[in-house]
Amino acid sequence: MSSLFPAMTAGPGGGADRPALRFGDRALTYGELAAVTGSLAERIRGAGRVALWATPTLETAVGAVAALEAGVAAVPLNPKSGEKELAHIVADSAPSLVLAAPGEELPPALGALTRIDVEADARAAGAATPRSADDTDDAAPAFVVYTSGTTGPPKGAVLPRRAVAATLDALEDAWQWTGDDVLVHGLPLFHVHGLILGILGPLRRGGSVRHLGRFSTEGVARELNSGATMLFGVPTMYHRIAEALPEEPELAKGLAKARLLVSGSAALPVHDHERIAAATGSRVIERYGMTETLMNTSVRADGEPRAGTVGVPLPGVELRLVDEAGAAVEAYDGETVGEIQVRGPNLFTEYLNRPDATAAAFAEGGWFRTGDMAVREPDGYVRIVGRKATDLIKSGGYKIGAGEIENALLEHPGVREAAVTGEPDDDLGERIVAWIVPATPEAPPSADELADHVARRLAPHKRPRAVRYLGALPRNDMGKIVKRALHEQALHD
Ligand code: ATP
Ligand code: MG
Repeated sequence: MSSLFPAMTAGPGGGADRPALRFGDRALTYGELAAVTGSLAERIRGAGRVALWATPTLETAVGAVAALEAGVAAVPLNPKSGEKELAHIVADSAPSLVLAAPGEELPPALGALTRIDVEADARAAGAATPRSADDTDDAAPAFVVYTSGTTGPPKGAVLPRRAVAATLDALEDAWQWTGDDVLVHGLPLFHVHGLILGILGPLRRGGSVRHLGRFSTEGVARELNSGATMLFGVPTMYHRIAEALPEEPELAKGLAKARLLVSGSAALPVHDHERIAAATGSRVIERYGMTETLMNTSVRADGEPRAGTVGVPLPGVELRLVDEAGAAVEAYDGETVGEIQVRGPNLFTEYLNRPDATAAAFAEGGWFRTGDMAVREPDGYVRIVGRKATDLIKSGGYKIGAGEIENALLEHPGVREAAVTGEPDDDLGERIVAWIVPATPEAPPSADELADHVARRLAPHKRPRAVRYLGALPRNDMGKIVKRALHEQALHD
């Protein structure tokens, strides 16, 4: 296949001096990036699989690009994972070596692997080595990325190079993404969102990335006020932005200037979307993807941003909704719920070492079962109602999505965070339970008040029958609410 990063291989006058990556006060131009990744690629060529100790550093970005250049599949590791999870991933993916930033201490689970320190200093790497044509097959694995583990133990999704190229090019179209875009990046680099969209995306376009190391509203404000054009974030970041806007005028100014604010990895609460729009005039657009499928849908840059929806299928992605019998749901009525299934060049090939799980994940015809439930609006916009396994509550003969109840609860001034689950109930089958983090712990809104609040906004049968108060919701490293932990907690209460 042709190079994944044409800007890196451009000849003289091709823009080798353009900025590519910046992490704090360390930066690389395209020419420098070609030099450092070229020499690392030479060292790891033929290595089978390599683990990537994915700290939010320049070295991680360089390591990922070098692995792609060498045609070696990289397995990004979350440095915050526990020893047990790391040991599982290392045993499962069997890398021959680990790439890490010099000086970074590695945990015992990686002790048996040969370590290669990533050299990200362009002066040390010398001039760019002339590279041969990139002849790696586009079906070859580019990455093995472990799923977030929101619903069970993480599974290693094998992502071919063509999926990376296809998803980034579909986003180019949907977001009118160009080499002039400068991305503010505050996400971790061990998942699809931060690594593939946030690092490889701008590099494929010939644009640049400014990584904050660690997300902060001040960092976002600073970069958006000094030339950055787009921001990618998870909902917890946009929540922090929404909370900070009243006190941080520079933040509002920066967001107002941004060309594109994108949220993904979990549903963006409508309340946060609206607060940001009211304070800045900018609307956050949502895209929907998974480790296994990369990106499936997005609100388009030239489309209408609509709170609570993930937009339309990306170019090249086929999307359908199916009912419980597996039959296609034809309705575009904003009401009929079905499971999202997708097909396209963006898909993974298999779960590593899990032929059972791989087979179970595909329906006849090669459709991937996402496990996410959604409705379609008359103009084709997809609205996710939640995950089949944890967010669909069957109560009193109704199928109720947790998301809309969560959105309603979040509109109550006494609610800071909300999650909704179903629990077994003799009369109703399941009853709706709200888990609330109150805005003021000393004076939480009462269960009756919250039930009335929801019943007024939605419908009486959608009101929570029980409310449980927490100091914080259980979340994973991507900031996603782990409903599994709430279910377990309910069992022990
Ligand atoms: P695991 O598969 O290990 O349980 P996970 O599904 O959270 O974890 P990811 O692949 O990182 O792992 O996340 C994909 C899921 O995230 C999707 O299936 C969907 O449920 C959710 N998601 C992603 N983007 C959005 C969005 N914009 N709105 C709602 N949900 C989203
Ligand atoms: Mg999943």
